[in-house]
Amino acid sequence: MLDGIGRNIDYLRISVTDRCNLRCVYCMPEKGVDSLGHGEILTFKEILSIAKAVSQLGIRKVKITGGEPLVRKGIVNLIRRIKDIDGIEEVTMTTNGVLLGAMAGELADAGLDAVNVSLDSMNSESFCRITRRDCLGEVLDGIRKACSLGIRTKINCVPIAELNGGDLAGIIGIAREYPIDVRFIELMPIGFGKNYSPVSNEELLERMEREFGKPEPSRSKHGNGPAVYYNLPGFKGSVGFISAISNEFCGSCNRIRLTADGNLKLCLHYNEGVALKPLLRGGISKEGLKNVIENAIYNKPLHHVFKGGSAENVEMKNMVQIGG
Ligand code: SAM
Ligand code: SF4
Repeated sequence: MLDGIGRNIDYLRISVTDRCNLRCVYCMPEKGVDSLGHGEILTFKEILSIAKAVSQLGIRKVKITGGEPLVRKGIVNLIRRIKDIDGIEEVTMTTNGVLLGAMAGELADAGLDAVNVSLDSMNSESFCRITRRDCLGEVLDGIRKACSLGIRTKINCVPIAELNGGDLAGIIGIAREYPIDVRFIELMPIGFGKNYSPVSNEELLERMEREFGKPEPSRSKHGNGPAVYYNLPGFKGSVGFISAISNEFCGSCNRIRLTADGNLKLCLHYNEGVALKPLLRGGISKEGLKNVIENAIYNKPLHHVFKGGSAENVEMKNMVQIGG
């Protein structure tokens, strides 16, 4: 459906958990994680009711996220059920990849169309420093397995001056060796991300040119998101940039989000949304649910408030609670 300023909203990101098996320093604390209780997160039945309602409002693509979506029990079945909903054309996932090797077969069988694997370094020491866990081998195994099963695979990397700024060549090298797109996601000053400094796109492009040759803007279509892609000489995949802050793309935003505890978020960085859980648990009808969501989409904020907003609308959640 179109929102109040004519943007076509056809993409929903569903966070299925706020728990994670990694502890990326820019996303979560090592200890003292205050996770939602089992009764606080939406059940699969509730998620499916919402997915059915939004499919009738024009949502065509669903991305499953978290926390780490693969740690939620029963996730494969949820994907299968969402894929079966009339109108939903594509179900994809963003994952840290640790459990992907073990689960790729059943995910492919359930109809998962594509996977974005978050990987910030190919160097095992800096991988451990960033994620606070020693499991680069499992992630690489997961990427290989997903590709071998024909699941479209992309790599997402957040370049951070203090953490992986010095070893991004290894990540870029993935796109040289394999037909896999690598995307650099600009660090956002959300939660623990505020403690670190992003690496600018200009700097990344300069470094790419020095090490791999001149990047040329790519003319082919790479997906439905806001990434801007480049081709490099001899590369099998492309390198993309998603820069929500330095290159705001709110005017063409096509997405809404559902948090694990049932808040329908209309904008990534906007502390406003609609609490759907109490409505679902209060027995709202299918038509009632659809009307609430339709009204919320219509009133989607014009743009995020990274560059300043009032005290009421600045987002206070961490990325692990939003789902990226
Ligand atoms: N655990 C899964 C994963 O890592 O892909 C899904 C959830 S994670 C919150 C989704 C994405 O958000 C990851 O690619 C992660 O790197 C990114 N992310 C987390 N904190 C961020 C921040 N402050 N700025 C930009 N991206 C961030
Ligand atoms: Fe977990 Fe993903 Fe956050 Fe890393 S970025 S701590 S993998 S939710």
